[in-house]
Amino acid sequence: MAGDPRLRTPSRAVDKFDKKILSLIKDMKETLTAQKNPEGIGLAAPQIGKNIRIFLMMPDNNITVVANPVILSAKATPKAKTKTKLLEGCLSLPHYYGPLIRSDKVQIEYLNDMGQKIERTFTGLEAQIVQHEIDHLNGILFVDRLLEQKKPLYEHTHGEWEEVELT
Ligand code: ZN
Repeated sequence: MAGDPRLRTPSRAVDKFDKKILSLIKDMKETLTAQKNPEGIGLAAPQIGKNIRIFLMMPDNNITVVANPVILSAKATPKAKTKTKLLEGCLSLPHYYGPLIRSDKVQIEYLNDMGQKIERTFTGLEAQIVQHEIDHLNGILFVDRLLEQKKPLYEHTHGEWEEVELT
């Protein structure tokens, strides 16, 4: 699954916000907003073939650009552990979903698209996106996490759900 080796390669940090990086961010914004069915709520640079530590998140109509993220703390409350109904998916693995458990509160430090250092805490869906996208920057896919957690993977095609073997 996910044969592109760039999805399996740890990405390198952004060292300066030059034209190249700004153009990459622009491409990523276009790719993310163009995603329909399913719509995208997050996109990491390796998903468009660039192994650079940048991701975008769009939980609503606003796009947040995150570069060089570092997780300062991550907490899974008992509520997070029982709330497995929200299926996680990935634009790079279309039509596959799984009931992954993520921390529901994540504090990170990162650079925004102007290179300014930001410290911010994300909760709920935003926390889930942050963890999913940081995994991408480390060459990890959500199906790997499903395997770790021994959770099922489902394929959604032609309006039907089918459990598929994870190998
Ligand atoms: Zn993904």
